[in-house]
Amino acid sequence: MSSRRETMLREMGLAPLWKSRGAKAGTIGAGGKPPAPPGSFVDEDPPSTPSVAREARIARMDWTALKAAVPACTACALHKSRTQTVFGVGDENADWLLVGEAPGAEEDQKGEPFVGQAGKLLDAMLAAIDLSRDTNVYIANVLKCRPPANRNPDPSEVAQCSPHLQRQIDLIKPRLILAMGRFAVQTLLGTEASIASLRGKLHAYHGVPLIVTYHPAYLLRTLPDKAKAWQDLVFAVRTFEGLQAREPAPT
Ligand code: URA
Repeated sequence: MSSRRETMLREMGLAPLWKSRGAKAGTIGAGGKPPAPPGSFVDEDPPSTPSVAREARIARMDWTALKAAVPACTACALHKSRTQTVFGVGDENADWLLVGEAPGAEEDQKGEPFVGQAGKLLDAMLAAIDLSRDTNVYIANVLKCRPPANRNPDPSEVAQCSPHLQRQIDLIKPRLILAMGRFAVQTLLGTEASIASLRGKLHAYHGVPLIVTYHPAYLLRTLPDKAKAWQDLVFAVRTFEGLQAREPAPT
């Protein structure tokens, strides 16, 4: 292990390095649906309500349209209290996509996800596995607007905002998704099961392998679970390496 990585792990309270006892990948497909062929949503399921029409519209957007649509969005009341929307950050062709919950106060001010204390921990964890928002991951939230006083996202807010995340995922085409915390997990897997019961298994979102882990803000409050988050990252790296070995990257 490089000394930079060792230092990082020590800073995170994760040294000595946790060693996997050989977690086995579960079957891809549990809870996931095969991706719809491009354009098929409109052809096979004609919009019948304003919300279905809106989802279909978002599902056809390219990056430029999506990046214009999110800051213009007034679909839920959060637009009234936001300073700005927080779209996402990173490599738009990244193999790894990390999904969090919603912007906090600092993210609302800066317009970038995970720039507060939780973000610093997240960056340190990513650095430990040679990933960085500057080069090879994309980071997005379920909600693009800050809920006032950092309250939990409301189900109707998640429903209005998740088409944006879904389109980001379709455009990025990640090879692996790391869902961080209850809201990301519930939104992407459509389950109310606990993080504890979902960790350590391979899930899928629309055919994309998905791994569940704790939210970095939770880890800041619950130090003993940092070791579990590290286990999740090790599992994610191994899964990713396994995917690489099985399937060469598209050219
Ligand atoms: N927590 C999140 O889920 N997302 C952020 O961007 C910041 C904190």
